[in-house]
Amino acid sequence: MNQDVPDVVVQTALSYTQTSTLTDAILTLLDVEIKRCADETCQKEFLFQEPLSKTRKPRNDAQYCSDICARRTVDRAYKRRKRKKAKESL
Ligand SMILES: [Zn+2]
Repeated sequence: MNQDVPDVVVQTALSYTQTSTLTDAILTLLDVEIKRCADETCQKEFLFQEPLSKTRKPRNDAQYCSDICARRTVDRAYKRRKRKKAKESL
C-alpha cells in the first residue's frame, strides 16, 4: 500500500478525467467526433459532424479535414498508380 501519493497527482488525475468526460459530453451533445486527417502530409485533428442525411454523403468524407486533403490524397494515389503502371509496361 502506498500512502505517499501526493495530493497534486490525485487532483491532476481527477481533473483530467473530469475534463475528458466533459469533452466527451460536449462532443456527444453536438454529435461530432474528433478525427485525424487521413492525408499523409496533414494528419490534423478535426471535428467531424455526421451528415444529417446519411444516404447522401459518402462515408469516406469523414477521413479528411478538408476537401483539399481529400483531393490531394486522391490525386497522389492516382499519380502513384500511373507511375506503377508506367514501370510495369517497360
Ligand atoms: Zn487534412
